[in-house]
Amino acid sequence: MKLRKTAAAASVVLALTLSATACGGDSGSAGDEPGGGAASGKNAPKLPTYKAATDVKLDSKVFKAAQKRGKIIVGAKADQPYLGFQDTSKKRSGFDIEIAKMVAADLGFDAKQIEFKTVDSGVRETSISKGQVDFYVGTYTINDERKKQVGFAGPYFMAGADLLVRKDEKSITGTDKLKGKKVCSIVGSTPLQEIKKPKYGADILELGKYSDCVKQLVDGQVDAVTTDDAILKGYAAQRPTKLKVVGHPFTKEPYGVGMNKDDKALRDAISDALEAHEKNGDYKKAYNATLGLSGSEYTAPPALERY
Ligand code: GLU
Repeated sequence: MKLRKTAAAASVVLALTLSATACGGDSGSAGDEPGGGAASGKNAPKLPTYKAATDVKLDSKVFKAAQKRGKIIVGAKADQPYLGFQDTSKKRSGFDIEIAKMVAADLGFDAKQIEFKTVDSGVRETSISKGQVDFYVGTYTINDERKKQVGFAGPYFMAGADLLVRKDEKSITGTDKLKGKKVCSIVGSTPLQEIKKPKYGADILELGKYSDCVKQLVDGQVDAVTTDDAILKGYAAQRPTKLKVVGHPFTKEPYGVGMNKDDKALRDAISDALEAHEKNGDYKKAYNATLGLSGSEYTAPPALERY
């Protein structure tokens, strides 16, 4: 009995030590940049500010309900540094968060009138089609399969699936070196669908959150994580001494803003907003102050595909 108690106490101490190491080491100390990649310092690129439009009229059910409620509900990611991140003080940051703010402003909602909801990859279509969010901005690839359930405005960014490995990894230099390797990816994501193909020969671990896959990689439980390069670069930038991106994208992932499938008025309005903020320079400014800091060079966004 005594022995068991002591063992339990020891494991508590061990767990506490491990989690303390996780907090300090994984995301912070030893030169690794902590947090979600928000710019800091005097010369850091500044985020744009977006002025909320007034008197917006739109023949959209979703929009009218939001207007009545006085706030707009936006689905986003919370664990993707430089893209969609929520820090311990609940503050959201990242390129997708800026895209959400630009769009909301043109619909007449300022930043304080946005209620962000964290929606992970596996539940996006359900959350959008059930009306739990008014629109969604979270590294969301536009494809025909998804278009059966949701609508998309965009693309506003082009990513590609890549591999994240430990810094000292020598053998994984591309997808042709994955035979028998343990690779983690995310339920409901397009890179997971791709990497499951028998041609890669990888041993797949499917988890619900990207941060859980990254933890498995840092802890040595898996050999690689696959998803979009833009996301992976954020994790590598957070832990430059521990992780690196292989750098050979093997899919095309055009990002869109997701919304109700049949709400064409809202879709058009969001496309207009994306176009306007690209033209007036906000898009580039927002990019340089977020995603640009993780090593994804700025390139002009792809042409919008209106439908
Ligand atoms: N862009 C990919 C997708 O939409 C992967 C990133 C994600 O899961 O959000 O499935």
